Amino acid sequence: MLFDRDIKGFDLPNKALCLTFDDGPGETAGDGPGPKTSRLAEYLWQEGIAATFFVVGRHAEQFAQTLPRLAGYGHTIGNHTYSHPGLVALALADGDVVGEIARTDAIIRPYIRADAVFLRAPYGNWRETLPPPDCGDKAESIVANILNISGQFSDYIGPVNWDISACDYDFWRVGASAEEAAAAYFQEIERIGRGIVLMHDSSDEAAIRAQERTYELTRLLVPRLKASGYRFADLDDLPQVQALRV
Ligand SMILES: [Zn+2]
Repeated sequence: MLFDRDIKGFDLPNKALCLTFDDGPGETAGDGPGPKTSRLAEYLWQEGIAATFFVVGRHAEQFAQTLPRLAGYGHTIGNHTYSHPGLVALALADGDVVGEIARTDAIIRPYIRADAVFLRAPYGNWRETLPPPDCGDKAESIVANILNISGQFSDYIGPVNWDISACDYDFWRVGASAEEAAAAYFQEIERIGRGIVLMHDSSDEAAIRAQERTYELTRLLVPRLKASGYRFADLDDLPQVQALRV
């Protein structure tokens, strides 16, 4: 079932993190910049970390060999739509919200071993904003409503949001180094202390993809986090998710 409110990780114990990677998969040969989902997945596995990759369906079609690798390294594959639209605007325009989720579901379904599929909305875009002078979002999600009424996503859990991001894509956009991005992520993780961490293993923007160093960022960040006493959890470990299962 899809809920009106975001699932977050602020109820995790102190120093527990869920690593999540969005907008992939993507693959680049060699050691230059660019998406390297398979190598990232292998590195995390070597470090004993099970992460979640919220894949975009059209990218998963392009790199079809990457999904079995993600599953083989013990990671969770989540649904991040087929073409990465803002779902609220799509719903308001009477667009095919169900198709955006269903197309990617068909692609990732062979690699789902758990009893639930996690969904993350592009941009975290899930509820309409209230008009001024109110601020914030409406209590109910037009997107959740459409998906639930369709009856096609009864084993879904979402939307999975995040607690911690240092906007990795902004570093790649300006050609910054993996060291700079890793320092920003470490600082933000220390400031917030626990939760779901948002990173991106590819992008819809070619200019960002060309300069992306998320694999290198992760190789810098993980040892530093481990040395500082952090441990890594699955989305299934989230108190907000476990509360749904009782
Ligand atoms: Zn995204």
